[in-house]
Amino acid sequence: MQTGDGLLARLRIPNGRLAPHQMQAIAIAAAQYGNGQLEITARGNLQIRGLTPQTAGDFAAAIRAITAIERGLVVETPPLAGMDPLERADPRPLAQAIRALPITGLGPKVTVIVDGNGQIDLNATGADIRLTAASPDHWHLTVGTNPIGTMATADAVEAAQTILTLLAHRGETARGRDLAPDMIRAALHLTAIATPPPRPATSTIGDFTLNAAFANGIALPFGSIGSADLIALANAARGSGITELRLAPHHTLLAVSPDQSALKTRRSEAADLGFITTPADPRRAISACIGSDGCASGHIAARALAAQLVQRHPALFDGSVTLHVSGCTKGCAHPRAASLTLVGTPGNCALVSNGLAGDTPLVEIAPARMESAFARLVQQRLPGETSAACLTRLGASTIAGLFRQE
Ligand code: SF4
Repeated sequence: MQTGDGLLARLRIPNGRLAPHQMQAIAIAAAQYGNGQLEITARGNLQIRGLTPQTAGDFAAAIRAITAIERGLVVETPPLAGMDPLERADPRPLAQAIRALPITGLGPKVTVIVDGNGQIDLNATGADIRLTAASPDHWHLTVGTNPIGTMATADAVEAAQTILTLLAHRGETARGRDLAPDMIRAALHLTAIATPPPRPATSTIGDFTLNAAFANGIALPFGSIGSADLIALANAARGSGITELRLAPHHTLLAVSPDQSALKTRRSEAADLGFITTPADPRRAISACIGSDGCASGHIAARALAAQLVQRHPALFDGSVTLHVSGCTKGCAHPRAASLTLVGTPGNCALVSNGLAGDTPLVEIAPARMESAFARLVQQRLPGETSAACLTRLGASTIAGLFRQE
């Protein structure tokens, strides 16, 4: 895939599982054939940036020698699937049966999620078809965002096949949201509408007890890490009894070990390398691309600016707001709306409120003035007020005025 900093390779690692030496080898290949920047996406895929037409072939050969790569229909399961004593059902056999369905003509973005409903769920990850464990042998079916019904495991594969066939008949642009719930129920001979009970959001950062092991989740700052730091992390993991590194949603890397003390050591090593090791880290609220430090389209050093803002104003990121810092209007790092978005423009930095990087900005100022503008914004917070409530109270025109001030 072509991006502003060259070709991007997105790797679908089977079940997101890599041994530490495999992760280390991938990071070395990223430095050798790309620009040394690796990302774990919000869905838990591994991306390597900065490849060129001249290096892409050698990179692909190097990856083939390190790990298998999944192809075909995307069927995702949570990163702790099959090891999680709290999941209601092991989703892997059902996921494998759906992967094996002989269906052609689907668009490349069609995604199925099979979620055992354990310690880390995929509720925040979009899917065309979602099967969530209701019990060891029953699954809630959702298509797009519409709850359809509950069914036994034996019927779930057939239901997935029916819905995927409906999508394939509509062509490669069809998505789950395009199918009317009543039409799906009629095709599946379902009458009952069962809505899965809402669950509190699960965090991917922290400690997890598994069936015969332990896991610890850390996140990549701004979803990205340089190859040298990842090589150092993987190397330390190799020497400390960590058996596996699992890619996880929300830019997270889980270490798995039968030895809990090995995970404690790795957590402090990861913190020293700049990884996020606690859920309260304010960097969790911020998305930023590499910007002008590594992308030809970038007008500002987006990650450097994000790091500066979070270091100077951590209190602003209290969990109620999100910030997106983008090198240009393309908004690669966060293709969704954020509470505040800073966008590089030729010579300036634009501010968008509650929108996307490409939306009409409230105001444009020099990047060097951004830090003092944020200081004025932080001063507006009343005692006990969240940052989100403060932004709402101020409104767009007052916020624009604060950023315009000399
Ligand atoms: S959003 Fe960032 S990474 Fe994407 S093209 Fe623009 S500067 Fe490059």
